[in-house]
Amino acid sequence: MGDTMLIHNDLAALQKGLATLPRPVALVPTMGALHQGHLSLVREAKRRASSVVISIFVNPAQFGPNEDLAAYPRRLAEDVQLLESEGVDLLWAPPAEAIYPPGFSTTISVAGVSEGLCGAVRPDHFAGVATIVLKLFNQLRPDIALFGEKDWQQLVVIRRMARDLDLTHPAAEAIVGVPTVREADGLALSSRNAYLSPEDRARAAVLPAAMREAAARIAPGAQAAPALAELERALLAGGFASVDYAVLADAQSLAPLARLGPNPARLFVAARIGGTRLIDNMAVTHSPPTAPPAFSPNDD
Ligand code: AMP
Repeated sequence: MGDTMLIHNDLAALQKGLATLPRPVALVPTMGALHQGHLSLVREAKRRASSVVISIFVNPAQFGPNEDLAAYPRRLAEDVQLLESEGVDLLWAPPAEAIYPPGFSTTISVAGVSEGLCGAVRPDHFAGVATIVLKLFNQLRPDIALFGEKDWQQLVVIRRMARDLDLTHPAAEAIVGVPTVREADGLALSSRNAYLSPEDRARAAVLPAAMREAAARIAPGAQAAPALAELERALLAGGFASVDYAVLADAQSLAPLARLGPNPARLFVAARIGGTRLIDNMAVTHSPPTAPPAFSPNDD
């Protein structure tokens, strides 16, 4: 564990604190209510950089009008303890005015990769994400930034923005994706899992299990559509109320695929259980036909 973590919620003091940190500096942007998924980003940041900065800000601009902004879990005191025990160097927990001063009028909109998957269901979400992330990059000027593969589309959107705008702090190549951390039953960790009743939490494990099944059916080169239909059926039979999408898509362009091709592909699902929307994604790689492999926690 390093020295005491610097905690800032004032921009001028933040800049002074940042100037004292040895470079390279890594940034891990979050909305708080931290769990092992976030901490895995922090640990990877520590491996890759001399100093680690984390931001905690529940960003209203990335929530839709009927979404869970008010209910989103906020646990700053617990988060601070966790981050101190991980040896994080600086926490930036800005008040809303430090992010959205009066008259704020700018939006970063990344076309194409923002439009499908979650973007089709949450039309302003990725503009809200890209805008806050660019703002945090400018406030903190990190050398690298880490994002979870759990939110694969977000990672693709941020990399696209960094390339398109010639960002240098961080450069597009210094935007690092970190594999999804999962519970023992395969469910991806998420701050939103806290919304689930114990019954729904148990049922939710059908999501990664059914995705594994579908991935195994698609892996030998079969048409994706029957496997995706079976995946939806398994989710609805397993207690999910609805499926926003279940798609095989190119890992970089996010364009839907009818079957595996030469480029890396992933399976993407968003589905609702007990009023909570869960998302997950996993790589699908070419393989001979086999039974779906068993889960081991933390694998991708
Ligand atoms: P959030 O606080 O939900 O905005 O997430 C902050 C960062 O943590 C994002 O880059 C997420 O992709 C990442 N993250 C969330 N859940 C996980 C997980 N289960 N495994 C790895 N990274 C995650």
